Amino acid sequence: MIAEKIRKIKAALPEAVTLIAVSKYHPNEDVMEAYAAGQRIFGENIVQEMRQKQQDLPKDIQWHFIGHLQKNKIKYIAPFVAMIHSVDSLELLQEINKHAAKVGRVIPCLLQIHVAKEETKFGFTFEECREMLRGNSWRDLPFVHIEGLMCMASNVTDEEQIAMEFSEVNNFFKEVKAEFFKDDNDFRHRSWGMSHDYSIAIQNGSTMVRLGTCIFGNRPKKKETV
Ligand SMILES: *Cc1c(COP(=O)(O)O)cnc(C)c1O
Repeated sequence: MIAEKIRKIKAALPEAVTLIAVSKYHPNEDVMEAYAAGQRIFGENIVQEMRQKQQDLPKDIQWHFIGHLQKNKIKYIAPFVAMIHSVDSLELLQEINKHAAKVGRVIPCLLQIHVAKEETKFGFTFEECREMLRGNSWRDLPFVHIEGLMCMASNVTDEEQIAMEFSEVNNFFKEVKAEFFKDDNDFRHRSWGMSHDYSIAIQNGSTMVRLGTCIFGNRPKKKETV
């Protein structure tokens, strides 16, 4: 079932779009079914869970952290995390840099943009993000590499609203690319689109879709965060 879904989704994705299989709350066996179908990039949003899966499962899996990250937990994922999608402050970036330095890695990061209407979502507003980048101190962090933007659209059924939000972030990506990352070919990732809205995301510049439910089915009840 899972393998079949992975194959189907992959076959339909444009070549330039990377699939992140969001395996949060799903057991190792489910991850291995996706793995058997060739999937190697998985997304998790709880540090402890990602760390456990990384220890248990094949070492060629690339683990992407997509959830809100607390500073005191960075050390648990710094040795292996392939990308952190959810950087929402300069302080967090500095802290990731510190832990990455300790383990001698450069960690690819995306800046999370708050574009949805929900107050509960995390991320920089456009203006906060501009201010942070203009401040230039992110340039002094050799162990993190900012490689793009991430966002979540409002959780609504209005497809025009969703399209408008993705399109705004896509325009913002172009602005930031031109102003701060002109000569940096690594600034190229646009992580938007979840199970219910990824086709809209792809029409609006997405290069990475983060899909959970449409691959693994409904999630078991949320675990406690550790
Ligand atoms: C859970 C989650 C997803 C996947 O959501 P689905 O609706 O199950 O596809 C994508 N992005 C983030 C940040 C998530 O927390």
